[in-house]
Amino acid sequence: MLSNYHTHSNYCDGKVPLREMVDFAVTHGFEELGFSGHSPLPYLNTFSIKQDRYLDYCNEVRALRDEYADRLKIHLGLEIDYVPGLCEDFRPLIETGGLEYTIGSVHLIPQPESIEYIRSHPTEAADYLWMIDGAKYERYDEGLQRLFGGDIKRGVRAFFEQNNRMIESQRPTIVGHFDKIVMNNKDRYFHYDEKWFLDLVYETVQLIHETGCICEVNTRGIYKGRHYDFYPARQTLRHMNTLGIPVIVSTDAHLPEDLLHTEGAYEFLEEIGYRNVLFRPPLTA
Ligand SMILES: [Zn+2]
Ligand SMILES: [Zn+2]
Repeated sequence: MLSNYHTHSNYCDGKVPLREMVDFAVTHGFEELGFSGHSPLPYLNTFSIKQDRYLDYCNEVRALRDEYADRLKIHLGLEIDYVPGLCEDFRPLIETGGLEYTIGSVHLIPQPESIEYIRSHPTEAADYLWMIDGAKYERYDEGLQRLFGGDIKRGVRAFFEQNNRMIESQRPTIVGHFDKIVMNNKDRYFHYDEKWFLDLVYETVQLIHETGCICEVNTRGIYKGRHYDFYPARQTLRHMNTLGIPVIVSTDAHLPEDLLHTEGAYEFLEEIGYRNVLFRPPLTA
């Protein structure tokens, strides 16, 4: 069955309207499509849904769901950025939007000493956040230098701690790309199999296991040529399989053709005998 539950549109940093994603999915025989725009944030940025457009996004997904009901199962979700001081409670977004599922992700890491300042001055947040995603590793390096004094272990630890707090306190339906901190590292500051790094990965995996969240297998780094592995990495998926953690393959599509880029994820999961592969997250509402 073809499905994808990590899908963006031009409401956020995706490149086309919702309808173009839907039409492509129908044409290519998808049975299910879940939208997961980047959640609104209270400061000026170029990637998230604008705060005053959030309900339009939710309503348009629902209208398409009804219009295409006989051809494609469309579902309303959101990729919610968990950012201490800016967004620590997913409920208002879930309730006002009537969301059916959430993907909880960390892209923005505040310097720990700045969290209270950000809380009271949210519109200035951009200056205090380390953006770990995006096409430019120079931006990653600059943020690491400016906010964490270039101390990669401190920055990486803050990333995993933020993921852990999100998983414990918000229990997102799907945990999004929880080791993406490696993407812009590009094997320069550290290697994935260094013990201190693996300890952090395994701690988060244990938490996902204990809370019963689903984890995505995100393929975007591979087809964008930014990374050579899935998020999480193949070795981490092998470990997750021993714990029976449910996974769902996500293309994290920003363009219609991205929907097809599963990059051998299903084949890999089959090859290692992954026991718990889902095609649909549990849905509410
Ligand atoms: Zn993301
Ligand atoms: Zn995404």
